[in-house]
Amino acid sequence: MYTIFLGAPGAGKGTQAAAVAQELNLAHIASGDLFRQALEQGTELGRQAKSYMEKGVLVPDEITIQMVLARLSAPDCETGVILDGFPRNLAQAEALDKAFVEQNKAIDKVVYIKVSEEELIKRLSGRWICRRCQTVYNIIDSPPEVRGKCDKCGGELYQRPDDTPQTVKKRIEVYFAETAPLIDYYARRGKLLEIDGKGSVDEVTRRIVAVLHKEEFVTR
Ligand code: AMP
Repeated sequence: MYTIFLGAPGAGKGTQAAAVAQELNLAHIASGDLFRQALEQGTELGRQAKSYMEKGVLVPDEITIQMVLARLSAPDCETGVILDGFPRNLAQAEALDKAFVEQNKAIDKVVYIKVSEEELIKRLSGRWICRRCQTVYNIIDSPPEVRGKCDKCGGELYQRPDDTPQTVKKRIEVYFAETAPLIDYYARRGKLLEIDGKGSVDEVTRRIVAVLHKEEFVTR
């Protein structure tokens, strides 16, 4: 099963993709995580992506597409994948379709997680993440028991450098201009499943697993 998780920054894509991938035993590929790993490791890819990520704009397609397609060819992707944060524009969606046609594969389902703009800004500006296990906290809605420490593993919590108010605003603008058209792209192909992203992490995970099974595709 090849599934894409679509949604604005802060919609809960990453958290949900990780939870659903674990539940359904699928590989989880997050393009943002691949870039952040490259940055931490100081690789050429990280160096190329850095300035774009800091500004909250998209890394150029040539770099991104090549990185994700290479990751998709790894053996753990053979039985199924959840793609999180990719594709992020029409050129990436078309490149993915083309690569999959050549490999006799297809995107089966696209889960679109819907959240209001007001909620997105609140979530992103209060977001703290565990450096060790990646669990996401929100200072207002779901703070950790001990400030700065992960409840699950005791790891240190940090704020992403691109979660500052100015970069958050830019990332949301980029989402509406470049990524939101993909909602229609996949709806027209009969692959879109729509989910309400409000509620607890567990509630939303249950909703997603249920629609993936029911296959109630949006018609446009
Ligand atoms: P994310 O963790 O998905 O919010 O991504 C963080 C940043 O990585 C984005 O703001 C972009 O600069 C870059 N990025 C992640 N995925 C993509 C993509 N599919 N295309 C271009 N840039 C991306």
